[in-house]
Amino acid sequence: MQLARFPRFRLAHLPTPLEEMSRLTSLLGGPRLLVKRDDCTGLALGGSKARALEFLLGAALEEGADCVVTLGPMQSNHTRMTAAAARKAGLECVLVVQGESPRSPQGNVLLDLLMGARLLFFEEASLADLDDLMLGVVEDLRREGHRPYVIPGGGYSPIGGLGYVDAVVELLGQLNARGWKADALVVASGSGCAQSGLLVGTLGMRSGMEVIGITINRERETLQHRILREARLLSDLMGIQLELSEEKIQVYDEYLGPGYATPTTEGVEAMRLAAAAEGLVLDPTYTGKAMAGLISLVRSGRLGVGQTAVFLHTGGLPGLFASPEWFAAELAAQWAAAAK
Ligand SMILES: *Cc1c(COP(=O)(O)O)cnc(C)c1O
Repeated sequence: MQLARFPRFRLAHLPTPLEEMSRLTSLLGGPRLLVKRDDCTGLALGGSKARALEFLLGAALEEGADCVVTLGPMQSNHTRMTAAAARKAGLECVLVVQGESPRSPQGNVLLDLLMGARLLFFEEASLADLDDLMLGVVEDLRREGHRPYVIPGGGYSPIGGLGYVDAVVELLGQLNARGWKADALVVASGSGCAQSGLLVGTLGMRSGMEVIGITINRERETLQHRILREARLLSDLMGIQLELSEEKIQVYDEYLGPGYATPTTEGVEAMRLAAAAEGLVLDPTYTGKAMAGLISLVRSGRLGVGQTAVFLHTGGLPGLFASPEWFAAELAAQWAAAAK
């Protein structure tokens, strides 16, 4: 994979560790389970998005931008990490945020403030409105003489996708070095940026490893469509030919529950199992639901004995500290039931 020709601004601690989850593996009795610790990328409490941001900030600096503009919901890992990335690159950061300015900021939005990002809160806006609102903000910045670099929500862009192609190269190197081969890579999928990059990486490297996305906000078909579109643009950008089709894009939407950022019983159970078996911390919005998906795929036999599955821990941990009240009550109830 030819990534060296793309401008890149180093932000992440790489390679992230690849660890065995041997206790969870024997508990579930299915495939060997590994975890790729992208929660340990180091940038402002970590997460996979540091990978995308290395290429996005590389492009911003090459264009001579003086500020970075992006958008997201209140507890966006993407806005938090973009703010940190911009600071490290010496740029200002403007964030278009859905919701009311919080009286007592917690989790990601607290870190946005810590970074000194300029937060523009849009109380009445839906997430879908934010794109248009951001365009207005960008126009204003240009009129004021700024040179903004615009990053779509979630980093969803071919340039962002390069970071996840690199993640596959890194992971395959680690697997090879230990004489291992993985059959599946399981990831929480939101905007689809990560999954499209992982898909292009695994197909481009002919790794034989399938990428399984667990959607955390969109319905399956919508997300498949987004991933296909982005994977095509990304492979064009890289100048590689791939046979891509919607059927090749594995997305499960059974673990989403009532919707984005609403914790589920299964997600809390998965967080509890990961914590109890591995001391591994997951978050309720992304990685907890993705782990619920992985566990269910193991229990149903979709991933079985003799196989190896890698769970990509994409981070998202600050969001844990902005959990709704329901979360702690559910956690306590589940532990109480387990103790009986
Ligand atoms: C953004 C994010 C994802 C999903 O990545 P996309 O590229 O938006 O699909 C998964 N997990 C965490 C913790 C994230 O912050």
